[in-house]
This record gives sequence, C-alpha cells and structure tokens, in this order.
Amino acid sequence: MEKGHISVQTENIFPIIKKFLYSDHEIFLRELVSNAVDATKKIKGLAQLGEYQGELGDLTIQVKIDKDAKTLSITDHGIGMTAEEVKKYINQIAFSSANEFIEKFKEVDDAKSIIGHFGLGFYSAFMVAHTVEILTQSHQNEPAVKWTCDGSTEFTLENIEKPERGTTIILHINEESEEFLEEGRISGLLKKYCRFLPIPIQFGEQFLSEEAKNEGKTPEPNIINITEPLWTKSPANLTDEDYLSFYRELYPMANDPLFWIHLNVDYPFNLTGVLYFPPLNKSYEVQKDKIQLYSNQVFVTNNVEEIVPEYLTLLHGVIDSPDIPLNVSRSYLQADGNVKKINQHISKKVSDKLAEIFKNDRNSFEEKWADISIFVKYGMLSDDKFYDRSKNFCLLKSSTDKLFTIDEYKEFIKDNQTDKNDSLIILYTHSVQEQHAYIKKANERTYDVLVMDSIIDNHFVQLLESKFEKTQFKRVDADTLDKLIEKDTTYESVLTQEQQDALKQIFENQISKDTTTIEIKNLSPDDAPVTITRNEFMRRMQEMSKMGGGGQMMMFGDMPERINMVINTNHPISQKILNAEDIDKNKIVKQLTDLALLSQGMLKGAALTDFVERSVEIVTQ
Ligand code: ADP
Repeated sequence: MEKGHISVQTENIFPIIKKFLYSDHEIFLRELVSNAVDATKKIKGLAQLGEYQGELGDLTIQVKIDKDAKTLSITDHGIGMTAEEVKKYINQIAFSSANEFIEKFKEVDDAKSIIGHFGLGFYSAFMVAHTVEILTQSHQNEPAVKWTCDGSTEFTLENIEKPERGTTIILHINEESEEFLEEGRISGLLKKYCRFLPIPIQFGEQFLSEEAKNEGKTPEPNIINITEPLWTKSPANLTDEDYLSFYRELYPMANDPLFWIHLNVDYPFNLTGVLYFPPLNKSYEVQKDKIQLYSNQVFVTNNVEEIVPEYLTLLHGVIDSPDIPLNVSRSYLQADGNVKKINQHISKKVSDKLAEIFKNDRNSFEEKWADISIFVKYGMLSDDKFYDRSKNFCLLKSSTDKLFTIDEYKEFIKDNQTDKNDSLIILYTHSVQEQHAYIKKANERTYDVLVMDSIIDNHFVQLLESKFEKTQFKRVDADTLDKLIEKDTTYESVLTQEQQDALKQIFENQISKDTTTIEIKNLSPDDAPVTITRNEFMRRMQEMSKMGGGGQMMMFGDMPERINMVINTNHPISQKILNAEDIDKNKIVKQLTDLALLSQGMLKGAALTDFVERSVEIVTQ
C-alpha cells in the first residue's frame, strides 16, 4: 500500500470547501454523476474509434444507498483510472491550482464560482462525506486500485481485485449530512440534476406490488433519466406532439404553450435548446424562473437571469450550452463574452420566429397577440435591436378590436387625426371600461382610440413617442379631443359673451379652484354638457411619480390631481341653468359636475353619497 500526501501547500482545503459551499452541498451528486457520465462517454468514444476492443457491456450508472454502512455510492463502467491516473487527476490536478484558489476566494465571496472553476468537482464529495473511496479499474490492462482519503491531505492508494471496468466512488456520509442517505432526497436530486443525462442512471428498483411479487415477477430497474431529451434531436424528426409532450413533462401544471423555437447553434458557440412561448396574457410576474439551463445535459440552474435578457425570462424551456461554465458567479457571467453572444442570438431567434409567424399566418399571429404582446413590448423597451426587429410585427389594438401594425395604424389615421401643426395625434385609453364615454365621443367624431391597458403600456407609449417623428400620444380624456374636434368643426355659441361669463361664474362658485379649472367651450349640442379632461403632461408626471419616478418627478407627486371641467355652452341645459332660480341653479350644476366626475370614476366617498341622495331627491320630486 502506498501512502502519500496530496500535493497542496495550504494546510487543509476541505474546511474551506465545506464552509463556503454550505448552501450548495447537494451539488456533490451532480458533480460525481457527471464525472461518471463523462467516463462512460469516453469509453464509448474510444470503442467507436476502435481504440478500445473489449466488450462495452451494460453502461448503466448505478447510484446506491447503504443505510447500515452509511454510504452512498456511484458506480460507472466507464474508462476507469490507472494508479498513475488517480495520482495525476485526483491528487495533483485538483490541487495544482489550490494556491490560486485560496487567493481568489479571498476576493470572491460567491463560493459557487470556485468549485467548477478550479476543477474541484470531485472534491465536492467532502462536503457531505468524512471519507471517500475510489475503486477503479482502468480500461487499459492494469491493476485495479483503491484510493482512500479521510478529508485530510493524507491519502492511501492500494491495489485491489476489481473484475469490472470502471469506477465506484463510495462516500461515507458524515453526521451532518445524513439526509443524503434518504431515498427521497437522493431521488429528488437525481431528478433535479440528472434527469436528462445521456447515459442511463439506475437508482433502486421500480415498485412492484405484492401480487406481482407473488407471481414471481422481479422488479425492473428504476432508470431516472431520459437519455435523449427532445432538444438533442433534430427538429426535422420531431412532431408538434413531441414538443407538446416534452413541455408537459417539464411543466406538468402549465397550460399548453402557444409555439416554440428549437435552438441549434454550433458557431461561434455551442447552444441547443427549445424555448416555448407560454400564454402570458397580461400578467408576467408569475412566469419567471421557468427556463432551465443545462450544460451537456447536466442541469445547472433555473435562474437564467444573467444569461438571457430579462424579457426572455418570460419564456419557458431549456437551454443547453457547454460554453456556459457549470459553476460560475453572476458577475463572471455578465462579463463573459460567450454569454453576451448567446443573449443576442436567442433574442434574434425569438424575433425571427415571431416575424415568420406574422408573415406566414397573420390570423394566427393576431389570435396569439393578446398573449405575447406584453413580451414583445417588454423586449422592445429593453433592447433596441429587438425593437428594430419587432417594429414591423408589433401590433396596436384599436378599441374597435381591430389590430394594426404600427405603420398601418399611422396610415389609417393620418388624414383624420392631426393637429393644426400637422402633428399626428394618437388617442389611447388605459381602460375601455372606465373611459367608455370618452371613447364613444371620439368614435362618434370618427377618431380611433388605441387600447393601451397593460402594465407596461405607459412606458411603451413613451417609447413609441420617442421613436416617431411629429406624433403625439394623448390619452382620450386629455383636452386634445376637444381641440381636434374644434379643428374639424367649429361651432358658434348660442350664448352671448355675457351669458358665457355668467355660466362660467356659476360653475366656479361650486368647485374648488385648487383642483379644478373651468373652461367654457362651444361644442356640439349633442356633446355632454360637462366633461372632465386632464392635461396629458401633468397626468403623466403624476403617474410617473406615483410609480416612483424619483428625482424631480417627485415634486409633482405632492400636487393634488388637477382636472379641467369643460362646459359646453351649446348644450340646452346651459340655457336652463342661466334661467333657473338660484336654488335650482346650484342643484343642477352640482348634479352635472358630479355626473362628469362619476363617468371618470372620480366620485368617491362622501361626495358619492351626496350625489346618490340628491339624485333620489330629484326623482322623488
Ligand atoms: P473535472 O471533472 O472538472 O475535470 P473533477 O475533480 O471532477 O474535475 O475530476 C478530475 C478528474 O478525475 C477528471 O477530469 C477525470 O479525469 C478523473 N475522474 C473523476 N471521476 C472519474 C470517473 N468516475 N471515472 C474516470 N475518471 C474520473
């Protein structure tokens, strides 16, 4: 038996590994099983090249728990290691960068980056085991060896009898880690990290009923993984049903996706995967953390925020890239050139796919629009390149339910909705329900109104405004509508100037000047007697400061919401007010202003109660 010293200058590296990877102890299983998979892939590779002539045999990897011995073992039938290789790969290589490791970890407190980065995968076993044994028989005709290490820098290496080619790693689980002797825990971890590994992995046997046992049946091995997951196959050989059933396998509780993109890149980086578009509707918070990141079919994380732009995290599916390091820190990922390219590539593929559906089947695209619009808008807001690629298929929805592309829409309104400076006026509503009266009025004047009612539409409106020349967006309750109407049709007032001034005074007596401005206008007799409008600029400022716009925006936040009340001199009731007795006059004015507020959803609390009581009184008279 040979005894030796693991070549590391630093006293003991294991306490450091244990301490800094505390929260991630479970990844030891991923590291060891992927080593077993790599060793198995290597022997298959050698056999294919004719460099290994022996029988390959059953290559299934075995994961076993022995509760009595308190061990967990991982056995493969891969290439194995000779004594020399154990010395080289386990004793030296792992620690050759140990000094660098110690130096680095002083600066980086993100321990996740350390293990993979320094090739310490195997040593993660010491996070859960007090002693680790490697029993290995190389595919070359050399004696089998057993390496044992108790977590200090001492190891032993001895020759043993081991008839089968390959390696068994035996972990003597330490006291704090006994959870890893529970079948449920291990099967959960295998499912999480090893579900799509390319070599079959057996963990125990399938359940067999008493009846079946009595009939003399023997249980089938429990293979925990799918060795050829969908994304590794050629799209040409896959049907829609294949994609859907893979989706259901990944997300058993979710509604079916709208469509999907099969990613397959081999230059300048390797990347495969399938991304699904879930039906998003108007919500987007609930959907995050659904993309799973793999590296050569080994699960890495489902937190891909650093790898894909935030708007793409709304998608579901799988990305597999050996070019994304297994264990890396977030800051490392953000700076990584490959990651940036991957980002851009995925984003491009996504917009290409959308453009393709739009071009080939506009009807189907329109049907899906409600579910993908938030995603597209989010993408356009966050990424200029995505904006450019999407602007031709991004749809705008009119309150008449018709969908237009941006260019189509501008064309549609260009002869009808301009102000006196020839600037295009795009009217929009944040709520078809709440602004029904305004939309109706606009439509009656043949103006169109866009529906901008999703959570990011405020920002989207501003984005479009910044991109378009000579175009303004005005919410349908802004004073613009009157201006547009005035521009198209001018009405003479049926009242004299004196009467108009008197009318204004009557209204002013009833309202608070701090919050409301009274404007007298000559509109159509069919228009409402009193309407409320809000200055577009002020309203936006107020909304922004409510959402935490910060900085100078805050000054608008403290201001009470200002509104304009527009009195239509030509409505027959104006004449009636002027002629009425004082007591009735006030009642009518109060009733009219309340009605205007009510139609804006602005009549609340005591004012609303007053209004209801007054209305009852009026109809009772
Ligand atoms: P990495 O896998 O990142 O190279 P590890 O510390 O996990 O780092 O493993 C070090 C080396 O030990 C591997 O590169 C491989 O050569 C060898 N090795 C580990 N596990 C096995 C195994 N089950 N069969 C054969 N060789 C192995």
